[in-house]
Amino acid sequence: MLKRTIPLLLALGCFCIPTAVAQSQRPSPGRWIPAEYRWFYNPANAPGWLDPDTARSLVTEAARKWELCGVRMHYQGETEAKPGLMDRRNVVGWSLEMPPRLRGLTLGQAEGGRLLERDIAFRPDREEFRRFPHLLQKVLVHEFGHAIGLTHSSRCDDVMTLAADCPRAHPDTLPLTPTGHDLERCQALYPPGTTGLKGGKGS
Ligand SMILES: [Zn+2]
Repeated sequence: MLKRTIPLLLALGCFCIPTAVAQSQRPSPGRWIPAEYRWFYNPANAPGWLDPDTARSLVTEAARKWELCGVRMHYQGETEAKPGLMDRRNVVGWSLEMPPRLRGLTLGQAEGGRLLERDIAFRPDREEFRRFPHLLQKVLVHEFGHAIGLTHSSRCDDVMTLAADCPRAHPDTLPLTPTGHDLERCQALYPPGTTGLKGGKGS
């Protein structure tokens, strides 16, 4: 599914391992209008070592962290639809149908600076997720950042950093919440006072 759709994508973000090509600071594909990301969760193919309830909690908690930016991260419940189908429904889930070098992949459609769809797939077979729970949490938050229109940051201490740019970062010291700089970049897309939600700088 993902294999077929990837070449057609208008916008794509990923949390790659250090062999990936750096793609920092590309222009954003757009923003959600209104400032709300409505998403479904597909629990299929989650890592076997992760309890299903824990997996869902980790994903929903990661999404909520972007509400600091003023974007409503509205969880719509579970779905059986696979992430990667371009059907104008935002689906977040787990999939092996992506290049093996990736840990997560956000893909979707945008038009004229307006996001139309953003699906997220996480790779369940990455052994480092099991060894470094922080890494999994960071990848979850990172991909939700792409889902609301953020591109990669050039700062190595940001959630939106591309791993390829900062290969020496130790998994245990990764940020698990958008940094002040992440939020500044996010609020450039969603200016405070225009979103209907109270934004904040966070930690
Ligand atoms: Zn990324």
